[in-house]
Amino acid sequence: MFDLIVKGGTLPDGQVADIGLQGDKIAAVGKLEAEARRVIDATGDLVSPPFVDPHFHMDATLSYGLPRVNASGTLLEGISLWGELRDIATVEDMVARALRYCDWAVSMGLLAIRTHVDTTPDHLRGVTAMLEVKRQVAPYLDLQLVAFPQDGLYRSPTGRANVLRALDMGVDVVGGIPHFERTMEEGAASVRDMARLAAERGLMLDLHCDETDDPHSRHVETLAAEVTRHGLGARAAGSHLTSMHSMDNYYVSKLLPLIAESGMCAIPNPLINITLQGRHDSFPKRRGLTRVKEMQALGITVGWGQDCVLDPWYSLGTADMLDVAFMGLHVAQMTHPEEMARCFRMVTEDNARIMGLAGHGLKVGDQASLVILDAGDPVEALRLRAARLFVVSKGRVVAEAARGDARLDLPGRGGMVRRRVKG
Ligand SMILES: [Zn+2]
Repeated sequence: MFDLIVKGGTLPDGQVADIGLQGDKIAAVGKLEAEARRVIDATGDLVSPPFVDPHFHMDATLSYGLPRVNASGTLLEGISLWGELRDIATVEDMVARALRYCDWAVSMGLLAIRTHVDTTPDHLRGVTAMLEVKRQVAPYLDLQLVAFPQDGLYRSPTGRANVLRALDMGVDVVGGIPHFERTMEEGAASVRDMARLAAERGLMLDLHCDETDDPHSRHVETLAAEVTRHGLGARAAGSHLTSMHSMDNYYVSKLLPLIAESGMCAIPNPLINITLQGRHDSFPKRRGLTRVKEMQALGITVGWGQDCVLDPWYSLGTADMLDVAFMGLHVAQMTHPEEMARCFRMVTEDNARIMGLAGHGLKVGDQASLVILDAGDPVEALRLRAARLFVVSKGRVVAEAARGDARLDLPGRGGMVRRRVKG
């Protein structure tokens, strides 16, 4: 007797199987005849592990227009706007906005999120708020917090001290922003400092790194070297890495093998960087995305991150990782069928690897969390940004939604229009 059986779904690798859930674990996968307290018929539909977002800013989310909108659309105006907002927002404001965002995430099958938390202000209200949110959503959503010195580890007078305070309060991951420090030297020093700190404390490391159009912003080089020195491997990640889009090709031919050697991961954020980067260009105008396919070809784990939803840096967003992968697919020109399928894996299994999530998957013994989509396979899910018909988290059905079909009223045409072509 299972608690729940998901019948006849198509898994991301094309296999058709029933999945039996017992408690908070997947207990069986295959052809199941056993009884269950509840059966969901997923025949023809895609059954996937949950979506994962390895890069977000939940302390700022759903604040669009507060205290005013970002008129220039640049990263720097966004940072200065956020500098005003974080000092007027209360803990209660931030908790309420974050919980609302988590509701959206759950409805989209997004069940694990790494969020950077700004540790710049001495009051650390963002840290207090996000620790509270993490506690409240823990039964259904895994939240990982990064101590993020938004205004610089050294550029802000208490930047370094506040990162340490946040880690002592229970924040999980060491962050940084080397390209925002005053000089290249201080940026490189901040990378060495934070890598050492992560190694000493046995924590993961995730730096906002080279989020700039300046091809001479090369902090990723220092990051890879320090990850290798301390043996951090996949417990370390470089977020954004956008300057790589404009680096000299000869230099990159040396850089990428060093990143691969280190074992570190990369997290581009395509929705945000296609809008923020290239703002100082006339034409030709750069795309603002790092070298995704080129890193993957060397075996580097690359995920897609969402970064922002309705905040000082980005005026749209719905907590849908398929939106993120869809944009990434376009900007990185990942249009071969295998590359499109890879984009889906990036927002599920590759992102789970980056966050170090145990039990993410659809094997026996994995966590009883999955998503049933109104699509026949991963590529169709991307094309449609398909409805999440059922979301199961830790053994419980936590969200349900209707299919994406529509009713037509056209003479001589059928009554229902279905944009699915598979399953
Ligand atoms: Zn970010």
